[in-house]
Amino acid sequence: MLRPITHDPLLAFNLIGPAFLLLAVAVAGGLFSRRAHQLYQFVRLGQPVDRLDDLPKRMEQEATVVLGQRKLLQRLGPGLMHAFIFWGFIVLLTTIVEAFAEVFQPTFAIPLFGRSGWLGLVQDIFSVLVIIGIGMALYYRKVKRPERFKGSHLEEADFILAMIFGIMLTLLFLNATRIAAGINESPARWTPVSNAIAPLFRHMSHDVQGFFERLFLWSHILLVLGFLAYIPYSKHLHIFVSELNVFFANTKARGWLRPLHIDLDRLEGGDVRLGAGTVQDLTWKEILDLYACTECGRCQSVCPAWNTGKPLSPKLIVMNLRDHLFQVGPGLVQAKRAGEPGESTPLNPEVVEDEVVWDCVTCGACMEECPVDIEHVDHIVDMRRNLVMGESRFPPEAGTLLRNLESSSNPWGQPQSSRAEWAKDLGVPVLEDGQAPEYLYWVGCAGSFDDRAKRISQAVARVLQKAGIAFAILGPRELCNGDPARRIGNEYLYQELARQNIETLTKVGARTIVVNCPHCFNTIKNEYPDFGGRFEVIHHSQLFGRLLKEGRLRLTQEVQELVAYHDPCYLGRHNGIYDQPREVLERVPGLSTTEMHRHRQRSFCCGAGGSRMWLEERIGKRINTERTEEAISTGATVLGVACPYCLIMLDDGSKAKGEAIRVLDLAQILELSAGAEPGEGEGAAGQPPAYRA
Ligand code: SF4
Ligand code: SF4
Repeated sequence: MLRPITHDPLLAFNLIGPAFLLLAVAVAGGLFSRRAHQLYQFVRLGQPVDRLDDLPKRMEQEATVVLGQRKLLQRLGPGLMHAFIFWGFIVLLTTIVEAFAEVFQPTFAIPLFGRSGWLGLVQDIFSVLVIIGIGMALYYRKVKRPERFKGSHLEEADFILAMIFGIMLTLLFLNATRIAAGINESPARWTPVSNAIAPLFRHMSHDVQGFFERLFLWSHILLVLGFLAYIPYSKHLHIFVSELNVFFANTKARGWLRPLHIDLDRLEGGDVRLGAGTVQDLTWKEILDLYACTECGRCQSVCPAWNTGKPLSPKLIVMNLRDHLFQVGPGLVQAKRAGEPGESTPLNPEVVEDEVVWDCVTCGACMEECPVDIEHVDHIVDMRRNLVMGESRFPPEAGTLLRNLESSSNPWGQPQSSRAEWAKDLGVPVLEDGQAPEYLYWVGCAGSFDDRAKRISQAVARVLQKAGIAFAILGPRELCNGDPARRIGNEYLYQELARQNIETLTKVGARTIVVNCPHCFNTIKNEYPDFGGRFEVIHHSQLFGRLLKEGRLRLTQEVQELVAYHDPCYLGRHNGIYDQPREVLERVPGLSTTEMHRHRQRSFCCGAGGSRMWLEERIGKRINTERTEEAISTGATVLGVACPYCLIMLDDGSKAKGEAIRVLDLAQILELSAGAEPGEGEGAAGQPPAYRA
């Protein structure tokens, strides 16, 4: 058992110790609670959103992202650095409990495992790992200085690291003095690091050893309490909030957007806001996001806009919104208590410039990287919703896009009657109500109206015909799925289009919808269910993979090309489909593949998402040029895509580089290999050609 040091000089202090500790805990706890209550009040300013569904998934997120540090460990060095500190803190909670309890009862031991040899060993090892983590953090911040830290509050982070270092050092020295004084509870050999430090104190008298033992114990306790009181007031309150933020993170597909409930009566009365015009318009989860940011800059380092010289940084959006919240939050809380509207500074352009909001391609790279599951795209789309629907303020090209969608139901502004012209020589049936064959081929606007993307649609049709698949199209009854309207911020128009499409799809009795456009895939599969449209949706890469496996599609022609496959954001990051397109390519005889530096989860956008396809890129380097250069640098002869937007953007990129690389969709590559030559095919198997567009 622990033998307390009871010599006279310390006796008085030992006697007043419990009272002093209670006072210190009351002060630190009071400061902590006061701030926690204020932060909670700020969160309550936010709009309601349901984040308590799907508890098993939330627990899984907590286990993998928080405890397992999954996202941080995607980059091994910085990931280990953070994991050492995080795991160390969890283990060392036991030492904190022991230190506090010893002030009241010197012989205290945590029930069951307290003061056992193995616990001492684990505590000793993790103290050192935390110190190694701090050393690594300093190395990254002071020596490597990655660009991702640009704009972060590094001085404050240094202070916090110094506090953590102090907590670890006092713990090791506390154990060392106890070993030197012969009052250690765990055998010295189980705490090798503390044991190695102990000789520093061995030559001292028992009294001096006792003095140092108390000094380190109290320094340890006061540093822990100081940490508790300081962190919630600092920019690094993520230490206490990130676990909550991960728990409340979206559990649906990453590409899913929260629908806005649009009450037309209230809208006409002018008493409702659409989107985020002020900080009170953010949802409570979006406010929690602001607390959780660690300012690590991982989001910024992967953002295509930031990386091509545009002003958008997802990190700076979050930091600016947080600073603004802290500035206006107290006044808003007071106003809310008084039943008044409160000060409402517009978020755009006062807090986030308009240009920043329009730069986003909604690629989700920031969300993929963010270790605390901040949902940047939600913030950006909510600000766009306010700009478009509330303020009618948007780039002129966005106005053209929206007018085309309103008048022609497609972004190209082409007449609906020409929607199926791409198929006129292919014998593709157009679906009547209740006649649904096995597959409904949802073509999408790009595949219907853009000359280059039409070749994908034709290739899909020919390959399906070659495989003997019964399919049909909707022809002029297919409208834009609504994604461009939704991502540009016009939720009202999106919902109009979605409702009409859902009605049509339900009427025709669509069973499985096959799409080659990942934007259509994401919208129909993930977002239509919010409006009652529940359909089985399959991407053409998935269907082709299945047909190849089942032997229904045979590839006979060699395709002697080296293909670099580009993961479309809305297929990969937003829907987790990375393997099937690659598996399809691997089955093509003669074809070999290579990978770009940024691929799979780290793929780099083509520049078209978030309706950027229809907006001018006025600042910095073009995103499609950046991506095309990356593909060319691999030495590939073909840049493979699985999205018509990517095809258009990257083909433009290739043309700007003197057609240095061919850009082909998977369907076009399979068409070459399956020998499904243009003009071949007699319509869907078992059905007469019924083209009537
Ligand atoms: S979604 Fe993409 S473009 Fe938008 S902020 Fe995130 S990383 Fe940048
Ligand atoms: S938003 Fe996430 S990734 Fe970006 S700086 Fe903050 S914590 Fe890091």
